[in-house]
Amino acid sequence: MRNIVIAGAGTAGLRTAAALRERGFGGRLTLVGEEAHRPYSRPPLSKEALTGVGLGEGPLAGNRALRLLEDAEIDALDLDFLPGTRAVGLDTASRTVRLDDGGGIPYDGLVVATGARARRPDTALAGVHVLRTLEDAEAVRARIAEHGRLVVVGAGFVGAEVAASARALGAEVTLVEAAPTPLTRVVHPRLGSVLTELHRENGVDVRLGTGVRAYEGSGRVERVRLADGGAVETPLVVAGIGVDLNTEWLRGSLDLMPDGSVRCDEYSAASAPGVYAVGDLANWPHPRYGGRVRLEHWTNAGEQAAAAAHNLLADPRDRRPFTPVPYFWSDQYKMKIQLLGQGAPADEVAIVHGSAEDRKFVAFLGRGGMLTGVLGLRSTPRTMRYRGLLERPTTWEEALAAAAP
Ligand SMILES: Cc1cc2nc3c(=O)[nH]c(=O)nc-3n(C[C@H](O)[C@H](O)[C@H](O)COP(=O)(O)OP(=O)(O)OC[C@H]3O[C@@H](n4cnc5c(N)ncnc54)[C@H](O)[C@@H]3O)c2cc1C
Repeated sequence: MRNIVIAGAGTAGLRTAAALRERGFGGRLTLVGEEAHRPYSRPPLSKEALTGVGLGEGPLAGNRALRLLEDAEIDALDLDFLPGTRAVGLDTASRTVRLDDGGGIPYDGLVVATGARARRPDTALAGVHVLRTLEDAEAVRARIAEHGRLVVVGAGFVGAEVAASARALGAEVTLVEAAPTPLTRVVHPRLGSVLTELHRENGVDVRLGTGVRAYEGSGRVERVRLADGGAVETPLVVAGIGVDLNTEWLRGSLDLMPDGSVRCDEYSAASAPGVYAVGDLANWPHPRYGGRVRLEHWTNAGEQAAAAAHNLLADPRDRRPFTPVPYFWSDQYKMKIQLLGQGAPADEVAIVHGSAEDRKFVAFLGRGGMLTGVLGLRSTPRTMRYRGLLERPTTWEEALAAAAP
């Protein structure tokens, strides 16, 4: 293999490049990225980038806290880096990626890492923001400073973190969520209710079980009309209502799942020869979760990049299935929430250390008699200690026995 193209210059794309070089790939390596910047890390965008803590002075672009690798390390990868360039099509027969400048790059191996974009609410009013890029974070930070008041729509991790960061800045925050508890996609309702209390204790006006019916205002947003008939006056909205995957450019070339994710096998290989997919857009069968998975987790982007780099370069007999223990963290109100494995759906929940009242605990989550996840709040060493239980099938009883003090 002499010529590898990586489409998408986010965490998964850059980590793939680094992993290919680490494994001795000495050929031509092209990294195509739509954004104007060198690759950067997104998790700080809803945390340090909003609060300013740990960032120092200056604009966000190039800030050390957001770097995935030092500039010298990126230089050492010897990439043909094409920033500000979008992949617009894939021809699997001639093995060519088509670019928005009209050109095309041939490949022997292709890694698709174009990730996701924030889903935008259905309104053209100014003052309604999303948060996915450096530019989004700069805008949200400036508008919070300007208005001191906002409505956050959606209490997933991004929305919950924006609410917490805005409170740290002293802003007045209303958090609106259609589900009965925050973080329903990843956290069992019993534990989600602890997070609701956490937001309320920190002064957030939390409105659960009601979605947004309309954004109202003339030119700029002035209020959010809720599905329950209520309304909240606000000059600023930040919506964390999920993502859309950047895979439209692959339609007709690769097998896509109904949600637009790239259908991969257990090796992270897509449906065309020489093509792999990694990060937020990859969908693959995971033997311990009884079906296919897709993870929007920062750690997964790096781990899958390393696995795909290995498989792309390996002799077919030496390819390894990708079977990670999923890992996610979130920082809210100076508290770290960590999830190993899957948080939902779960039909068993047991707090095995600490207590919800103390806002410090480790909880086991189970389904069908098996341990499926471990969720910790302010309990990093204890939470991580149970990773091994999720590396192999562990019954609920075995897990509880392993948790005995
Ligand atoms: C605000 C925020 C906070 C987060 N916090 C956490 C956290 O605390 N913990 C955690 O585990 N995860 C967190 N995440 C999730 C994590 O950042 C993602 O899982 C990770 O960024 C996925 O990396 P990726 O490389 O797959 O995709 P992306 O980061 O989306 O990168 C894809 C890149 O490809 C580019 N691109 C898109 N289309 C094209 C195209 N056609 N051609 C060329 N380039 C293209 C995009 O512009 C982008 O730069 C957070 C995400 C956000 C937005």
